[in-house]
Amino acid sequence: NSNNFDCIIIGAGAAGLFAAYSAGTRGKKVLVVDHANKIGKKILMSGGGRCNFTNYYIEHDRYLSKNPHFFKSALAQFTQWNLLDLVTEHGLEHYEKELGQLFCQHKSSDFLDFLKALIQPLDVEIRTSTSVTKIQKNKLFNLTLSVNDKTYSTSSSSLIVATGGLSIPTMGATGFGYEVAKQFGHPLLPTRAGLVPFTWNNKDKERLSALSGTAIPSVISIHNQSFSHQILFTHRGLSGPAVLQISNYWNEGESLDIDFLPEHRLSQWLADQSSQKSLGTVLKLLWPNKFVQIWFDQFDLTMQVAQLSNAQLHELDQMVHHWVFKPGGTEGYRTAEVTLGGVDCDEVSSKTLESKKQANLYFVGEVLDVTGHLGGFNFQWAFSSGFVAGQNC
Ligand code: FAD
Repeated sequence: NSNNFDCIIIGAGAAGLFAAYSAGTRGKKVLVVDHANKIGKKILMSGGGRCNFTNYYIEHDRYLSKNPHFFKSALAQFTQWNLLDLVTEHGLEHYEKELGQLFCQHKSSDFLDFLKALIQPLDVEIRTSTSVTKIQKNKLFNLTLSVNDKTYSTSSSSLIVATGGLSIPTMGATGFGYEVAKQFGHPLLPTRAGLVPFTWNNKDKERLSALSGTAIPSVISIHNQSFSHQILFTHRGLSGPAVLQISNYWNEGESLDIDFLPEHRLSQWLADQSSQKSLGTVLKLLWPNKFVQIWFDQFDLTMQVAQLSNAQLHELDQMVHHWVFKPGGTEGYRTAEVTLGGVDCDEVSSKTLESKKQANLYFVGEVLDVTGHLGGFNFQWAFSSGFVAGQNC
């Protein structure tokens, strides 16, 4: 029967497509369903249009999860090197941008084409614009699918949930995977937006939104986590790589510590400048004019460096090396790259990604409580976890 499968995968994103490839190579008859009209939409929009598909340095401290051991087995079973072997075999042109981050040489759609080419020779069928309206478990999984309001039944021996997280609802993100998890008795952990820009609190907004467009190399810290990279001032708040990274570690109401001059101590650096010059002139050697004018607005920038008192030098150090920033919030799922939290990993086998609550049910990718840093770590998790489920389903 054309509607009986060995394995049905819900979600044709990075994790679902890779699970289909993995199961397909074992000769399984696979169906991938996605409610969106196209597959792999997030792949297409990822990495600024070039898809940062993995990283040379896939290390455990690059991942967050309530269970800090869960992701290790899958990442070891299918590594970045295994992915790179496939990428090379298929002639996908790519390059290292910085910090081990691997991008497509040309465009993200090349990566999606690579995934399609992996699947093409296998017994894998993909049905888009298709919703799952009901899941029942008898001997098999029986799924009611719906296309244009017409419903029909399908069945499979195993079911892989690869519906991703809640970020970017306009790209097809839904909480459906969490509903399936609940249906089979899985505990869920609270979700929140990750790899996301911060918004201003009211006080900073008034003074700092004029800095919009300014980028400053900085170190941003919270809870013993630090990231060093550009931070970007925007109309809405702060963005840029270091800000997105730290957002994974930030909770509502907390403050961040920002150092705008990590390489030097400002007071010492000032001591090395010509003492006759004005404060404004020397500060502009370090930062853009607009930043100097706004950041140091309570200082008389025409005063000579030599006239600065110890108390003023101390104050300058504080302002530059320890800006305590309390975000109003984040931009939320509308622009977040990932979702923190989700299906609790304690009830899923780390070796196979099979549910401990329901045999032959698997969870892969972002729907699980596993979140990577910015830099290709999230796609690698999607591929590793998809691969492992596909080998076991
Ligand atoms: P997804 O890729 O989100 O796929 C889930 C699929 O399930 C989607 O196709 C969706 O339509 C489908 N689906 C959802 N609900 C249903 C339902 N009810 N029924 C049927 N189908 C459903 N990570 C990196 O590593 N590198 C990057 O460069 C990068 N850039 C990013 C840029 C942006 C703008 C965003 C938003 C994310 C980026 N990420 C990046 C993160 C990365 O895209 C995700 O971590 C990854 O896509 C997760 O894979 P997934 O397969 O679990 O989920």
